[in-house]
Amino acid sequence: MQLLKDRILKDGVVKAGGVLKVDSFLNHQIDVSLYREIGKEFYRRFENMGINKILTIEASGIGIACVTAEAFGDCPVVFAKKAESKNLDGELYTTKVTSFTKGREYNVIVSKKFIGKGDRVLIIDDFLANGCALIGLMELVEQSGAELVGAGIVIEKGFQRGGEIIRQKGIKLESLAIVESMDEENGVVFRN
Ligand code: 5GP
Repeated sequence: MQLLKDRILKDGVVKAGGVLKVDSFLNHQIDVSLYREIGKEFYRRFENMGINKILTIEASGIGIACVTAEAFGDCPVVFAKKAESKNLDGELYTTKVTSFTKGREYNVIVSKKFIGKGDRVLIIDDFLANGCALIGLMELVEQSGAELVGAGIVIEKGFQRGGEIIRQKGIKLESLAIVESMDEENGVVFRN
């Protein structure tokens, strides 16, 4: 998605430790018109696949999932919550995810009320790095008995292993920009 790639080149900042900061338009301050274009692009890539539910994870995925849902004609968005262990009960699907940016493990939960058999789910997230967040969301879908249709990622860091792991599982993974390499000196290089 050229609009997104141009914006990353213009405003993205490469940090030490393999982190790409896109705080000025995606992760902190939000460019809503860019979000809308992202939503339309996900729709274009996943239309006519019977998707009736969009699943994401708090916090950065929520806005992106909402504009995507709007492009799909307002299908519901469910966001997995990061939860303390003591709050977990039997009415939840739960799994554990290790955060790439924070370097710690946390529980993620989805209420059984909101996803179940018969649902056709599209997972949406902002970044794909090692794949922990996405694999966690996939586990929640599996627990629910719903069908995973695919996953849409705004920025995939292609030099980390998440994309390869997910594609090897035969999942339809669509990333709108794939970073082939990046460093503080030379900036970002995209995969073609
Ligand atoms: P993974 O679980 O695939 O290792 O990492 C994905 C999650 O970590 C995303 O949900 C995102 O919040 C965060 N993340 C991973 N890499 C980056 C990065 O380079 N920049 C930012 N802003 N977030 C990242």
